[in-house]
Amino acid sequence: MIENLINNQRVASKSGNSQPVYNPATGEVIEELGLSSADEVNDAIAAAAAAFPAWSNTPPLKRAAVMFRFNQLLIENSDAIAREISREHGKTHEDALGEVQRGREVVEFCCGIPQLLKGEFSRNVGPSIDSYSDRQGLGVCAGITPFNFPAMVPLWMYPVAIACGNTFVLKPSERDPSSVMFIAELLHQAGLPEGVLNVVHGDKIAVDTILDSPTVQAVSFVGSTPIAEYVYQRGTAAGKRVQALGGAKNHMVIMPDADIDQAVDALMGAGYGSAGERCMAISVAVPVGEETADRLVEKLRPRVEALKVGPSDDTDAEMGPVITSAAKERIVGLIDSGVEAGASLLVDGRTLSLQGYENGYFLGGSLFDHVTTDMQIYKEEIFGPVVSVVRAKQYQEAVDMINDHEYGNGTAIFTRDGDAARSFTNDIQVGMVGVNVPLPVPVAFHSFGGWKRSLFGDHSIYGPEGVHFYTRLKTITSRWPTGIKEGSVFAFPT
Ligand code: NAD
Repeated sequence: MIENLINNQRVASKSGNSQPVYNPATGEVIEELGLSSADEVNDAIAAAAAAFPAWSNTPPLKRAAVMFRFNQLLIENSDAIAREISREHGKTHEDALGEVQRGREVVEFCCGIPQLLKGEFSRNVGPSIDSYSDRQGLGVCAGITPFNFPAMVPLWMYPVAIACGNTFVLKPSERDPSSVMFIAELLHQAGLPEGVLNVVHGDKIAVDTILDSPTVQAVSFVGSTPIAEYVYQRGTAAGKRVQALGGAKNHMVIMPDADIDQAVDALMGAGYGSAGERCMAISVAVPVGEETADRLVEKLRPRVEALKVGPSDDTDAEMGPVITSAAKERIVGLIDSGVEAGASLLVDGRTLSLQGYENGYFLGGSLFDHVTTDMQIYKEEIFGPVVSVVRAKQYQEAVDMINDHEYGNGTAIFTRDGDAARSFTNDIQVGMVGVNVPLPVPVAFHSFGGWKRSLFGDHSIYGPEGVHFYTRLKTITSRWPTGIKEGSVFAFPT
């Protein structure tokens, strides 16, 4: 049974509720996960609250020292963490290693926390009066994370929060919780005091307990849009800071002058890598002009047909299974709806069967052409290995299509024309934009966040925006020496 981590002690849930964790490559149950009761979540919150005074007063240099050691342990254990991820998530080993590295880079960023928290000082803002500002931690913060990056997305949150002097309660996805436990152990080996990071497993009961707790000051959420919106509304109604990152439908525009081979390579990795289960996955290709579309589809189709699908330990596999049998059924249902709506299904991944893995949740890559913007497969996030080609007559039609979509997480343009690229980056209503880069996931010292219904709240996650989210500004105005006598002043001080 996978247990909670409270005060650096493994504690089994006594709620009586649990659920299985599957290996998606085989369909076998590999673990049982205890689902916490509200009382158990409150125990974790209380542990975090008790740890806050000492941790927030620990010098930032010492907090950074923990991050330096943590970073080193993540480097040394990357391979083992990646295996833990793949066992429950199904992604290829190489893909899981990439996830660990991108998460670890946030820890590297946090090694510079003394510099990031450094304030500003103004001498003589008045007679013998000085003023200074700096940023302080909030208290207990919490994170609620999705299945698709079980190690990286939590690492977007708690290292930044903790480095800023907060304490933390993390509620990972119930589908693949083990890599979180492995990594939390490394952080404690790095010298993190007990109670500063606590992990509780659970479902809606755990999430609602976090959202309603008067002790929790800030909540970071990453997951699907309906739950992101719910978390934002319930959390802010309870007076908390909330950043809630949601779903996506990411378009890649291919201009007539683009290098088609480069665009096809990019589309394969960004559309089908991790079986399309990435919030930055490209799920819509928008070639501009019929001739561009024909050239793109001609080269793309055989590549999708040749996609190598397999379990994570197959070194030839380019993608693994999807996460659950329910996810597989949902994706198949959406492909059915595309066929019924009249889109051309050029490559059909619905019926793929892998010898020896018949009970796994595998799908082949699917490719649709002639998709239109009124179809369900265009409007909804599929979150599977399915790419839709929507043909645009001109550049402006492509831009309008993207700007009209409810999501605004990521997008990309492939072109050799600097003028088109510059207009695109200026006009597009999307938070993360790539120019000849298909997955423009910001590096750890920038910040990650979409626009429109891909992010609820005012702050993007990690990087400088993460530091702002997990801290608040304090400004002190002080007079030394105190000997100046000016009597009572009733006018506003100038
Ligand atoms: P999900 O919304 O089902 O789950 C996310 C978290 O919310 C989990 O911890 C889950 O336990 C919890 N949860 C689920 N239902 C709940 C409910 N009714 N009430 C309260 N809490 C609930 O998402 P998922 O399927 O794990 O992840 C895939 C989704 O996450 C996709 O939509 C993807 O685009 C999105 N995602 C977004 C980003 C981003 O940065 N914008 C990154 C990764 C994933």
